[in-house]
Amino acid sequence: MIDLSGRVAIVTGASRGIGRAIAIGLAAQGAHVVAAAREDHADEVAREIGAAGRKAEAAALDVTAPGGADAIVARTIERHGRIDILVNNAGIARDQLMLRMKREDWDAVIATNLTAAFALTQAALKPMIRQRFGRIVCISSVVGQSGNAGQANYAASKAGLIGFAKAVALEVASRGITVNVVAPGLVETDMTRAVTGKARDEWAAKIPLRRLGTPDDIAAAVCFLASDEASYITGQTLAVNGGMYM
Ligand code: NDP
Repeated sequence: MIDLSGRVAIVTGASRGIGRAIAIGLAAQGAHVVAAAREDHADEVAREIGAAGRKAEAAALDVTAPGGADAIVARTIERHGRIDILVNNAGIARDQLMLRMKREDWDAVIATNLTAAFALTQAALKPMIRQRFGRIVCISSVVGQSGNAGQANYAASKAGLIGFAKAVALEVASRGITVNVVAPGLVETDMTRAVTGKARDEWAAKIPLRRLGTPDDIAAAVCFLASDEASYITGQTLAVNGGMYM
């Protein structure tokens, strides 16, 4: 059984959707969760976790803000003395066909989905190396593996996370730190709720398991990769996509 008692976890984009489920899932397994999102957006999930008798605190973090990664890591070390688990989950999409894609939409997606993972991972690695323990999980996407028309920026950011995780995994494996990726398929969240009607039915029809994923489906994979049971797994991408891409 997964037991994360005594572990301290930072989850970005914890206010909604997949990140919220990951924060709740890690806390349910005993971790103290630093739930991060912009402004006070993660306050509610932190309160909810506390009300369930588990441990969490909210942190205001815009992952694209200069110095934000160092600040949240420093605050976590000051309060808890360690960081065991980092989940790079915050993400955005700004879809457009390549010929019409604006440079600002490319930059925003790369900054939020990829560069933020660089900054947070770099900041968290220092205490993890000192501890000789760490679990880093990046949330990619099926689109980073398969590509998707209209998502050149998003697919590049999500494929980038896969290469990033492998490179960092090789660098820090000898220090007891694992770096893995979870690649969700289509999951019911605000990000996908915008798609309705026929387009949604067409999506669902492409999924062999015949349903969209839930945030809890993704959280379960993250909890596993964060656990002691996954200590021999690093540099891997775990697809949680109902079979839509194998
Ligand atoms: P949502 O849109 O539901 O939530 C996005 C989360 O990211 C929010 O918590 C939001 O926080 C946070 N966020 C966005 N921008 C920033 C920022 N600049 N700084 C800090 N936090 C930010 O998304 P999902 O839950 O659907 O997606 C979560 C992750 O999973 C993303 O990386 C996404 O790409 C990936 N994914 C999602 C899939 C899906 O089908 N839903 C499929 C595959 C991958 P705030 O409250 O501050 O806005």
